[in-house]
This record gives sequence, structure tokens and C-alpha cells, in this order.
Amino acid sequence: MTTFSSTTQRKVYKRNLVLLNMQVKLLHNLVEEMAGENTGRIVDILFGKKDVNEFSIAKKMELTINQVRNILYKLSADGLVSFIRKKDKRKGWYIYYWTLDTEKCLIKLEDSLNGKIDNLNHTLKSRETKRFYVCKPCGIEVGEEKALEHGFSCEECADVYELSDNSGPIRDTKAKITRTEKDSVLIQGELKSIREKKAKKRARSDKKLEKEEAERKALMKEIRAAARKKVAEAKAKAAGKEVSKKKVVKKKVSKKKVAKKVVKKKVVKKAVKKKVVKKKLGLADRLKKKLAGKK
Ligand SMILES: [Zn+2]
Repeated sequence: MTTFSSTTQRKVYKRNLVLLNMQVKLLHNLVEEMAGENTGRIVDILFGKKDVNEFSIAKKMELTINQVRNILYKLSADGLVSFIRKKDKRKGWYIYYWTLDTEKCLIKLEDSLNGKIDNLNHTLKSRETKRFYVCKPCGIEVGEEKALEHGFSCEECADVYELSDNSGPIRDTKAKITRTEKDSVLIQGELKSIREKKAKKRARSDKKLEKEEAERKALMKEIRAAARKKVAEAKAKAAGKEVSKKKVVKKKVSKKKVAKKVVKKKVVKKAVKKKVVKKKLGLADRLKKKLAGKK
């Protein structure tokens, strides 16, 4: 049993339950619109669940497996349900497992409700601005144009048309619009919360990727620094040898020759630099390979 620490909590729980029931009821109607009468029950079975075995759906709905598949195929044409299939090892055939796509259902539902609101507004406008005529014995109502065409007498029984009272239809239509708009607001709220949840999930995974990238960059930096240090050490060692060689030569050569030596030394430096670049690339490539291997 659910326990509540406060009345507010109890109210929130109740409100959510009411909203959830309304949502299921609206989806129920949507499915019947799309897949035919008495098919809405499938929403009660699929709602809030994942990968539901089609045989268990058939059993719960007391339908044949083909009837159930017919309903599901109609719904999957609009992406309202999705399936996975698994081979039954014993029988050797595939069994389908179905999941209701709540977001797509709600989008479809919102479209359907908006269409209804448009139609109702159209009806309301025509009731507010046009005249209608009715033959009470036949229970047939016609627009002014048609009534005029038939000389204001009924096409069926020739009785004289009476002017319709529009106040009833206007009241009814207004009530329907209010109700449908309320449903639409509910669906929009639900869609918003689903999308927010999705966005949060996406942000979390983006953050994770960013962190991994930062770690990778830090590691590369470390490795490059180590490589640079190694090269610098090697260079220092090489320079030390050259200096000792030069000392021996210096004693014998003239000033002009010393100048030449300096130029040569510069050339040597350039060659060393080139080597450093080569070494860097090699390390980076190896690291990349290592990282790719980890994935
Ligand atoms: Zn009539």
C-alpha cells in the first residue's frame, strides 16, 4: 500500500493518477480512430510496458493472433507501436514483442485533437452566422441554400421547413470545444515533460562525452610533454658532444672558418627540429590507435 507523509503528497498522487487515466482514455480513443472499433483496449495492455508478447496480448483481448496482428500493423504504419522479434527455438517461428511509442502517440493525438477543434470552430461559426431549416416529421435539417432550392418544403415529405433554433447546437459545440481544448492542453503538458526528460538524458550523455574528450586531451598533452622532454635531453646530449669536438677544432682554425662552423651548426639544429616533429606525430598516432582500440 502507498503511504503518504502529507495531504499535499496525496493530492499530487491523485492528480497524477487522474491525468494518467485521462491520457490512457485519450490514447484509447485515438487507437479506435486508427484501427477500428473495440481495438482501444490494446492501450490498457501496452501502456507503460515494453516488449509485450503478441500471444499474451491476444489472450488478454480474447482475439486471435491474426486479429491482434492486424490491429498492431495498422498502428505501426503510423509509428505508434514498434516491435522486436525473436525466434522461438522450439517451434522455429518468430514471435513479435510490441511496445507503444508514447511520444508518437501523443503527437498523433495532439494533431487529431487540433483537427477536431478546427472542425468544431467551423461548426460554431456556421451556427452563429447561418440559418438552418428542419423538417420535424423526417428529422432532417438542411442549410438555407438547399431549403431555398426546394421552396422551403421538405424533399422527402413536402412538409414545410421550420427555421432551426441554433442556440442548442451553439451551446453544445462550445462545450465540446472547451472539453477538447482541455484534453489538448493535457497532452501538450505530457509531451513537454517527455521531451524535457529526453533532453536531460541527452545532456547527460553529452556531458559524459565531453568529459571523456577532456581526459583524452589531457593524456595527449602529458604524452607530448614527455616526448618533448626526451627530445630535449637527446638534443642536449648531442650539443654537448659537438661543443667538445669544436673545442679541439677551434684551436687550429681561423676566424673565417669559425663563422662557417656556426652556419653548419644552424643546419644541424634544423635537422634536429624536423626529427622532433616526426617523433611527435608518431606518438600521437600511436595514442590514437590505443584509444580507438579501447572503444
Ligand atoms: Zn419531411
